[in-house]
Amino acid sequence: MAKRIQIKDILNTSEFNRQVTIMGWVKTFRNNQFIAINDGSCIHNIQAVVDFNNTDETLLKRITTGAAVAVTGNIVESLGKGQKVEIKVTDLEILGDSDPEKFPLQPKKHSLEFLREIAHLRFRTNTFNAVFKIRHSLSFAVHQFFNEKGFVYMHTPIITASDAEGAGEMFRVSTLDPDNMPRNVDGSINYKEDFFGKATNLTVSGQLEGELAAMAFGNVYTFGPTFRAENSNTTRHLAEFWMIEPEMAFYDLDDNMDLAEELLKYVIKYALENCADELEFLKERLLEEEKSKPAAERSELDLISKLKFCLDNEFERLTYTQAIQILKSSKPNQKKQFKYLINEWGADLQSEHERFLVEKHFKKPVILTNYPAEIKSFYMRQNDTDENGKNTVRAMDILFPGIGEIIGGSQREERLEKLEQRMHDMNIPTEEMSWYLDTRRFGSAFHSGFGLGFERLVLFVTGMTNIRDVIPFPRTPKHAEF
Ligand code: ATP
Ligand code: MN
Repeated sequence: MAKRIQIKDILNTSEFNRQVTIMGWVKTFRNNQFIAINDGSCIHNIQAVVDFNNTDETLLKRITTGAAVAVTGNIVESLGKGQKVEIKVTDLEILGDSDPEKFPLQPKKHSLEFLREIAHLRFRTNTFNAVFKIRHSLSFAVHQFFNEKGFVYMHTPIITASDAEGAGEMFRVSTLDPDNMPRNVDGSINYKEDFFGKATNLTVSGQLEGELAAMAFGNVYTFGPTFRAENSNTTRHLAEFWMIEPEMAFYDLDDNMDLAEELLKYVIKYALENCADELEFLKERLLEEEKSKPAAERSELDLISKLKFCLDNEFERLTYTQAIQILKSSKPNQKKQFKYLINEWGADLQSEHERFLVEKHFKKPVILTNYPAEIKSFYMRQNDTDENGKNTVRAMDILFPGIGEIIGGSQREERLEKLEQRMHDMNIPTEEMSWYLDTRRFGSAFHSGFGLGFERLVLFVTGMTNIRDVIPFPRTPKHAEF
């Protein structure tokens, strides 16, 4: 068999009348003559034209949606609308049949909910072809960004024994027999008998280990899976998601925010430049979808304009205290339209508040800083108590339109006594965390870092609205199929 070439290379060609072989899957077969074939190399199909008078009837019958085919033929200029190039078939082989009575993907519009149930096949739709190409490109761009800046990519452990991060509920990792658990005299489970000789979990964040590496390499980042057994059935939470966590020595909170903003803009720009066809497709898809909505609920900007807008504007930076003032006097708060009303300083911001600030008030990405210490993690650097007696920490959350929180980060507490005091106040055992505290004992230095939820980034760039549609096989409460 002749060597196969990719459809994307043929669609861009200007060398006609040469013979090529392509392999791919049949999207549609019209008039016993026109086969639309996709091989995944780009979102576009190629049209292959069969000479049905000289083709065996039984072979024609096997050209069905979903079948895998190998086609050899001549590249010719297309007379049809919508494509410049097509293939005049001289030889066609069915590599794998697809029974049209049984194949669930028919050439019509399927709902995203339906496609989620057949996630093993949804890669073959245009929408998911576009989404996962963009996911790939964003992932590549993240590595390129950090590599250009000389950051070291650190692989932090997936299985950890520390549960101090407190970012979420954890999944236990154990080889103990649930029907025959070794017990201590007091009846509690004896984890000394377990695989690692202690209780272990899947990681919720690589940050603490990232900090250790930053105290030697200066600038590091992780990009790996994280797991949270949180029972939050939202469109923005997964039980297994990917997180990018840079950690930088000698960075204060401003440096941290600058880096985060630069990273987001860099990867969005990369997608605009490298995924133009995919973004164009998703833009049209969204416009189509929004036609059924009342005008007031439609987006002001189309997908591509929204991404460009994000590049062209500086993110709004303000403190938590300033945000509370805005929220307190906001219309939805005055009219009691928020589910959680903002009455006083100290309230944890809910997604409705974050989205009000971003989508209604500032109408652009927002970075909130200096949150109340009470509602943030132990490792965040403590500010001096302010004139009103309020204790805040040097945290920063980046809020995006349609998403809410996309990044959470902070300058870290580098002062040993302050850190130990806070751990003590929050009932976090310092002995077990001795390895972490060593960074503060030996050559401690001010440093910062943040966590970017990768799927939330993909959501933003693709304009999809459910996080289950931007990861190939989503893990959520009661769902671990495929
Ligand atoms: P949220 O308040 O939205 O639950 P968080 O405060 O728990 O977020 P962090 O612990 O700061 O989030 O995690 C850093 C980033 O990881 C978040 O900004 C978000 O982008 C992402 N993230 C957090 N939890 C999830 C999740 N369950 N699924 C997907 N992404 C998540
Ligand atoms: Mn959370």
